[in-house]
Amino acid sequence: MKYVYAVDIGGSSIKYGLFDEAGTLKRRWKETLKDKTNPSVVMKAIATTIRAQDETPDAVSVGVPGPVSEDQLVFAPNLNWRDVDVIGWLRAELGEGVRYALENDANLAALGEALHVTSRGTVVFFALGTGIGGGIVQAGRIVRGHHGAAGEFGHLDVGMYDFTCGCGQQSHLETLASARGLINLARHLRTQGFPTTLKRIHSAKQIVDAAKRGDTLSNRAVDEAAKALAKAVRLVALTINPDAVVFGGGVAQAGAFLLDKVREHYAQLNTGIVVPISFVQAKHGQNAQLYGAYARVMRND
Ligand SMILES: [Zn+2]
Repeated sequence: MKYVYAVDIGGSSIKYGLFDEAGTLKRRWKETLKDKTNPSVVMKAIATTIRAQDETPDAVSVGVPGPVSEDQLVFAPNLNWRDVDVIGWLRAELGEGVRYALENDANLAALGEALHVTSRGTVVFFALGTGIGGGIVQAGRIVRGHHGAAGEFGHLDVGMYDFTCGCGQQSHLETLASARGLINLARHLRTQGFPTTLKRIHSAKQIVDAAKRGDTLSNRAVDEAAKALAKAVRLVALTINPDAVVFGGGVAQAGAFLLDKVREHYAQLNTGIVVPISFVQAKHGQNAQLYGAYARVMRND
């Protein structure tokens, strides 16, 4: 039996997934990232963890929170790492007999989710988390673009409201449809006098739950976020005409309630040129990166 270790290095923890050669996730676990300032210490810790398992690795596939170029991590702001040869460090620890892959974590999530939809067509993935990231997968391959910036959907200008984005510009998708954006939007609507039963607005889940119960302000907030998503999807659809768009991340856990609203707005926006697209909810949740990492090293491109 051959085994693949998927390793997802985040800002505060390292997630591991052990896959068999059939692509089944056999085990997954998490370790706290203690001394993260020194990449060599982290790589040694990863190698020690992998060596401690009963299953000898045939491949190790690593996800990192930053752009990757020519198998090197360029920059990871959450770790304060620059130009780190992750594969080189791991090879020195685990040897030449193991296959290695390194990829940006958002791209891995996109790949993990896209392959669940189709391995032939084009799939775009929107990660609706604290911010909004994403990725594009074409025929099972990650589309990175010239500088690795393909799929930065959070910064598409949807022409709604004028909230300032983390990037300094206004009206970006992220200011409305991320978890943080939805909270800002709801708070703004409260100042506009929309009635609500909520005393304090503090989380996206709270807003979505209240909207499902029929709370006027919350329903309006989710509806506006859905409209912003529909506008962003339209821009993407007109550009690359994908088969499907997959929504993942915390906000997407609103499920069909959100997807139906996005579908409705999308249909209304497409009165001229119609670009049909399937709207799909992500399947792998927190494990999307691990599934993507497995696929990435198996396909090796
Ligand atoms: Zn922005």
